[in-house]
Amino acid sequence: MADGLARTGYVIDNVIGGKRAPSGSGRKAGIFNPATGAEIGELHLSSVAEVDAAVQAAKDALPGWAKTPPAKRARVMFKFLELLNANQDALAEEISREHGKTHADALGEVARGLEVVEFCCGIPQLLKGEFSRNVGSGVDSIADRQPLGVVAGITPFNFPAMVPMWMYPVAIACGNTFILKPSERDPSASLLSYELFREAGLPEGVFNIVQGDKEAVDAILDHPDIKAVSFVGSTPIAQYVYERGCKAGKRVQALGGAKNHMIVMPDADLDQAADALMGAGYGSAGERCMAVSVAVPVGEETGDRLIEKLKPRIETLRIGPATDSQADMGPLITRAHQQKVLGFIDKGVEEGADLVVDGRGFALQGYEDGYFVGGTLFDRVTPDMTIYREEIFGPVLSVARAANYQSAVDMINAHEYGNGTAIFTRDGDAARAFAEDIEVGMVGVNVPIPVPVAYHSFGGWKRSLFGDHSIYGPEGVHFYTRLKTITTRWPAGIKEGAVFTFPS
Ligand code: NAD
Repeated sequence: MADGLARTGYVIDNVIGGKRAPSGSGRKAGIFNPATGAEIGELHLSSVAEVDAAVQAAKDALPGWAKTPPAKRARVMFKFLELLNANQDALAEEISREHGKTHADALGEVARGLEVVEFCCGIPQLLKGEFSRNVGSGVDSIADRQPLGVVAGITPFNFPAMVPMWMYPVAIACGNTFILKPSERDPSASLLSYELFREAGLPEGVFNIVQGDKEAVDAILDHPDIKAVSFVGSTPIAQYVYERGCKAGKRVQALGGAKNHMIVMPDADLDQAADALMGAGYGSAGERCMAVSVAVPVGEETGDRLIEKLKPRIETLRIGPATDSQADMGPLITRAHQQKVLGFIDKGVEEGADLVVDGRGFALQGYEDGYFVGGTLFDRVTPDMTIYREEIFGPVLSVARAANYQSAVDMINAHEYGNGTAIFTRDGDAARAFAEDIEVGMVGVNVPIPVPVAYHSFGGWKRSLFGDHSIYGPEGVHFYTRLKTITTRWPAGIKEGAVFTFPS
């Protein structure tokens, strides 16, 4: 087993003003290996006073960092990128040990996070303002984007390296100082990322990490000196964070949960569609906000043929710990979440869906206490069922058959979530209409997980995103900066006398 995967008996630190130490609050939470159920580390949950100290450190570092020329900030980003590249394996091990996802999947996560850092290397270009000469006689106008100040990010367990990287590299490249509150389930990847950023030359206090739970989150939301908060997590908490943060006068972007549908048209290549559903439905044990959790075959025949193709694929899924390099997926994040997903499967049966593959009895020799659930497939799921309405966040795929293309689109548009969706078809007309009519923020055409690249922006619609900005890319730069327009008159000495009409 690689060293990083085997690490046990550790205590997680906060990072405040460049100093690493565990919280002194006395409140603790365990960190578990999801494949074995064993406690491998300990996290001390921060108090309000510790959030205050992090804000003070970020405030102290702000003037120097905000005035550092963007080209110099970019040099730190370039060095950070180089170090991330060199440490991809180590980062992936930090992720897999605490999250449970396979090493290959963790490497994919690191690669997508790293792309955001690549994007941030171009920050001088991204922050270039606009200039208009002679908007009036001798009058020029400049439009400039300036940093907000101290900003914060609160992140979920499912991408412990990538989702924080959607936030802090962009915020910091823009000249802000940052406080990260990672998920308390898998905080180690952020600590390693911090070490690499510091080694790249980031001044102390620019990037701070406060470990914790609701107490730390509420302290961030209420703190008058934090100007903006980015949140990624479940919808009820996203809504709570959005409302409380806005009430405290902050700019907030809060990304929430999802129920992503994939339409399979009768003309689609069904092998390609079934393979896509396998990766998008069961990769990372379904614990992705862009996982496909509902397949929508159009027409009964398409439905029957799709089930025929999916069933053997699901029955032969290889499920194992992150140390198994051949595994397709690993365990779920906690025992409580495993029990919740099993409860959803019971509920699906109770509400009348056809259980085609049952993952409830899955057991792995030597890992009896791990939080595993086997790949599960339901057919004939309908919109009134709990397993259709709610986000399961596990390896459970529902097939909800639609009579025709329009009823498939109507079903998706009626769902409360609007994060991602896809259509599999060879019909350009249907694909084009779908891209236009579907009420979802990220759309794939023959692409099952359409996560935008780092120089576009990521964000859902409806109850999958609260706020006006998507995350990272150009929208990220807008979120972490504010516009200033400067109107100048040179030479200053032109005398017009007092003018009381509106300047024109
Ligand atoms: P979560 O909402 O439980 O936790 C997210 C963060 O909020 C964590 O840092 C946690 O400590 C904090 N938190 C939890 N309960 C809180 C409370 N009562 N008050 C204040 N803060 C609280 O989410 P999770 O289980 O860590 O992550 C899974 C969820 O995240 C899924 O719903 C998934 O769809 C969503 N997600 C969304 C996206 C997206 O881009 N839309 C990306 C990744 C994950």
